[in-house]
Amino acid sequence: MATTHALAGVVLGTAVWALVPEAGMLPVLAAALGGLFPDFDLYAGHRKTLHFPVYFSALAVPAVAVAALNPTTTTLAVALFLAAAALHSASDVLGGGLELKPWLGTSERAVYDHWNGRWLAPKRLIRYDGAPEDLALTLAFAVPPVLAFDGLAETLVIAAVAVSGVYVLLRKPMVAVAETAVAAIPDHVVDYVPERFVRDLR
Ligand SMILES: [Zn+2]
Repeated sequence: MATTHALAGVVLGTAVWALVPEAGMLPVLAAALGGLFPDFDLYAGHRKTLHFPVYFSALAVPAVAVAALNPTTTTLAVALFLAAAALHSASDVLGGGLELKPWLGTSERAVYDHWNGRWLAPKRLIRYDGAPEDLALTLAFAVPPVLAFDGLAETLVIAAVAVSGVYVLLRKPMVAVAETAVAAIPDHVVDYVPERFVRDLR
């Protein structure tokens, strides 16, 4: 889920902060945003429009090299944003597929590889986003920043864990509610709902 990806970025950011604390918290924030960023395509070509497993990685390598040679707040922030976005895009392949009920494991689409022009198949190590094992991963990723930081940063990490817990509880009921809602919409209105949602729901 998005919070797991964000906290994976924060773990990277925390490691860098431990090495270069004088760079401040901006690189850690950039890492969190980079971990979150690909999922902003949720409503438009999810796991394709902003997910670039190859390109983010290709950009992250020189950015990390620049930051390693010249570690400033800016170079570290850029490198961490790209590295966290690359990690997110690449690690989506370890989860479930793109279908409405990913716990059924019927979709062969995990994330789009623009470089090779094809969908990568889900490995389902985490069965689906919002699975209990996804929450376990979120909790594990929360440990380093909670130990390292106080104040606002620590509060935000704990809030992300709380949001994750609620999402995991609602993950399956949400789909049932959406199915009921779409079934209740008259046909002439359904024409205006994006095809992707309706196709999976009917
Ligand atoms: Zn994603």
